[in-house]
Amino acid sequence: MAIRRICKYGEKVLEKKTRKVDFGEIKKELPVLLADMFETMDSVGGAGLAANQVGVDLRLAVIKIQREGEEPLSIVIINPELVERSGSLCEEEGCLSFPGLFAKVRRAAKVKVRALNEKGLPIEINAEGLFAKALQHEIDHLDGIVFISRLPLMSRLKLKPALMKLKAQWKKLDERKLGPAKL
Ligand SMILES: [Zn+2]
Repeated sequence: MAIRRICKYGEKVLEKKTRKVDFGEIKKELPVLLADMFETMDSVGGAGLAANQVGVDLRLAVIKIQREGEEPLSIVIINPELVERSGSLCEEEGCLSFPGLFAKVRRAAKVKVRALNEKGLPIEINAEGLFAKALQHEIDHLDGIVFISRLPLMSRLKLKPALMKLKAQWKKLDERKLGPAKL
């Protein structure tokens, strides 16, 4: 297993729709890729990581939700599709490709997602709260959409100076040098 470098805002791979997974084709490499993605996400205390965030052009993501007093929920979604959404919430979000930047993003409160799991079996997920938010954030990544593009124009403009400042720091940031999880 290895920690991989996380692509930061500005890198082209984050703004391109990912390639649909042919499960048979990547079956052999999948366990290593997924283990690396979980390790990378854990090393920076993330709740989700899409393949294109580590520079891999595949429609898959990992999610890990930690609820107080509960075992963490780890899930792999391959070729996920959002099939239902309802309600609305506007909560603070961050992104591993924008370290240090947070903004309130409007999302559906509840979603239904269909995907394949790590074994290639179809799954249907009904989620709400943080889990629903993470699913929408990761599916957006796989569609080449970063979270700040979900913000109203005015909020985006307001964030711009902070974003420019952070961007200069990200150039030096490489998760592979961070070592094991701190959380
Ligand atoms: Zn993200």
